[in-house]
Amino acid sequence: MKPVTTMRAAVVHEFKAPLQIEEVPKPEPGSEQIVVKIEASGLCHTDIHAAHGDWPVKPKLPLIPGHEGVGIVEMVGSDVTDIKEGDRVAIPWLGYACGSCEYCMTGWPTLCEKQLNTGYFLDGTYAEYVLAYAKYVCKVPASINPLEAAPLTCAGVTTYKALKMSGTRPSDLVAIFGIGGLGHLALQYAKVAGATVVAVDLVDEKLQMARQLGADYTVNARTANPVEEIKKLGGADAAISLAVSPRAFEQAFNALRRGGTLVFVALPADNYMQLPIFETVLNGIKIVGSIVGTPIDLAEVFELHAAGKTKVIYETRKLEQVNESFEEVEKAAVPARLVFDMALGS
Ligand code: NAD
Ligand code: ZN
Ligand code: ZN
Repeated sequence: MKPVTTMRAAVVHEFKAPLQIEEVPKPEPGSEQIVVKIEASGLCHTDIHAAHGDWPVKPKLPLIPGHEGVGIVEMVGSDVTDIKEGDRVAIPWLGYACGSCEYCMTGWPTLCEKQLNTGYFLDGTYAEYVLAYAKYVCKVPASINPLEAAPLTCAGVTTYKALKMSGTRPSDLVAIFGIGGLGHLALQYAKVAGATVVAVDLVDEKLQMARQLGADYTVNARTANPVEEIKKLGGADAAISLAVSPRAFEQAFNALRRGGTLVFVALPADNYMQLPIFETVLNGIKIVGSIVGTPIDLAEVFELHAAGKTKVIYETRKLEQVNESFEEVEKAAVPARLVFDMALGS
């Protein structure tokens, strides 16, 4: 019999090495924390970057990745008032913020310098249980399937916020570069905002999915030049960069019309792109970096989904398939999101 003090988790011990499925100690809540029994955990491309140590700031090691977790609260700390045992909650990337700095106090906890990120500096949701700060989880409406709530917890909130940051209006042409986990939701938020959408990817199946989800135009950047195709449509008022490739950022920039806005969201390991000063100035281009979203943004994402305005396209995998799943996502060989379904067992 398995002792109740341990849990199954997927653990990164070394960057770029396969994750190991192992028994680790089950967490206990501190006074402001909760312990959540995970039902579903989405595989965000960020988890692959974390496991590879791709970014200038490295995660802790050993690390349990995962920040699209959804599950049922099993234990609450003594000072937790808003969340109770039995609630279904989502555990996002913004795992903790100080609550009292200039950023936190002005609605920007995602910029808090004391923030802690789930599945990066805090152990994440690729596990049977996760420890979370109660203030930064979000209740999941009862009508939403946890397997759909999981991708909304990062891919959803991030692209919903990115769309807000783009200032998109109903008459706009919005270009979405990269129709993966993030992109398939980004295009739906652009449609909800009333925009005309052009979806760009390298994989025909992704573009077919984009059309089914409402994209008005699609461009396969392997066989056509997305800059030319988007310019033929008048140029993009906004472009959302979700493809893990600096080249796609450059194309997104060049596809903008005068006065357009480019929103940086993807975080390729290769951190630099060519950005021409002259064209940026003369064309009055705005470039905005956008990092996830707040708990309020996430609550709005759930509200839209509960109202039937978005669809989540996903396939399930067992947690034990984590290494093959990473490869599938890197090859762009999955529909939109993979979700680890903890009910599938080991
Ligand atoms: P994903 O792998 O599911 O999707 C990426 C998509 O881009 C794939 O469909 C792929 O075919 C496509 N693509 C690759 N190269 C391309 C190119 N040159 N042109 C057009 N399309 C191309 O990844 P995801 O989970 O959607 O994440 C995307 C990126 O966003 C990752 O870098 C991730 O770390 C980052 N991210 C950022 C935030 C944030 O807050 N800023 C939040 C979550 C994820
Ligand atoms: Zn703060
Ligand atoms: Zn993510």
